[in-house]
Amino acid sequence: MKIKFWGVRGSIPTPISSSEIQRKIRSVLKQSINQNISNPKEVDKFLKGLNKSDYGTVGGNTACIEVQVDGKIFIFDMGSGMRNLGQDLYRNNQYKDRAFYIFLTHTHWDHISGFPFFYPAFFPENQLILHSTIPDFKKRLELQQDPKFFPVSMKNMHCEKKFVKLDYSSTISYEDIEVSNLRLHHPGGSFSYRLDYEEQSFVYATDSEFRNLSDTFIVNFKNFCRNADVLVIDAQYTFEEAIQKEDWGHSSAMDGINIAVEAGVDRIFLFHHDPNRNDQELEKIHRKAINYHKMNFPNSNLEIFLAREGAKLNI
Ligand SMILES: [Zn+2]
Ligand SMILES: [Zn+2]
Repeated sequence: MKIKFWGVRGSIPTPISSSEIQRKIRSVLKQSINQNISNPKEVDKFLKGLNKSDYGTVGGNTACIEVQVDGKIFIFDMGSGMRNLGQDLYRNNQYKDRAFYIFLTHTHWDHISGFPFFYPAFFPENQLILHSTIPDFKKRLELQQDPKFFPVSMKNMHCEKKFVKLDYSSTISYEDIEVSNLRLHHPGGSFSYRLDYEEQSFVYATDSEFRNLSDTFIVNFKNFCRNADVLVIDAQYTFEEAIQKEDWGHSSAMDGINIAVEAGVDRIFLFHHDPNRNDQELEKIHRKAINYHKMNFPNSNLEIFLAREGAKLNI
């Protein structure tokens, strides 16, 4: 199973600002003083030693994750990152004569706005199989591309489109690949997905609170995540914000870690980053999350990552 993050930001696409780029350049130049860098090889060596917040960015596109499994392409959410996924498929000549299995958590803008820009959808030889628990999700996607809001209607995306309405807490199979869903706690509703193939499992759970909810909800969610190889989870808030912003529909890294440890998850990816946070602040959240885990669960082997745009993972 190959996983790639195409969009990791929540709420709204967040391009990196000039001042943030200037901060990175200033920091890198300061670190280069007295480093005796006199040829391209030494430049590369020096760059390799830099920290991630100076050399790179967490990314600004909204929710979209690609999972390639057994020759099939699954796509979880269609945020602005979906555009780059389409471009990448085009560049690698993988954009024609294909089926794409798309699963939507919900239809907030940050989870659907990349769809009209998904290049493979414009070729009649492709098939898009779109899944959601929302009965009128086809209508909602058409509305996004109504001429009042967007110049190209869905009719002009010439691929074959199949809309599959999923029942709550159901499982759908494509050969040996199973995708199950579970309702989360979010204004307007959101659904998590679990993909299982042979011994591998991937859980995607964004746009949810996990605080002050019923025991049944938490137990069901933990069971849903049980022994997953990878859990991608909403971590938009800091711990303090999660307490203040009850009912805003998002969560903190700490809540995710508590659940992941108890569910026996191997790797957790903190996701749906707040558009107000720059790379340094996100790295700080990551460091704090690692410390929290070390202090509270010294015997746990859970690995904690920040979801980064462009990051790939093989399980
Ligand atoms: Zn969202
Ligand atoms: Zn949402």
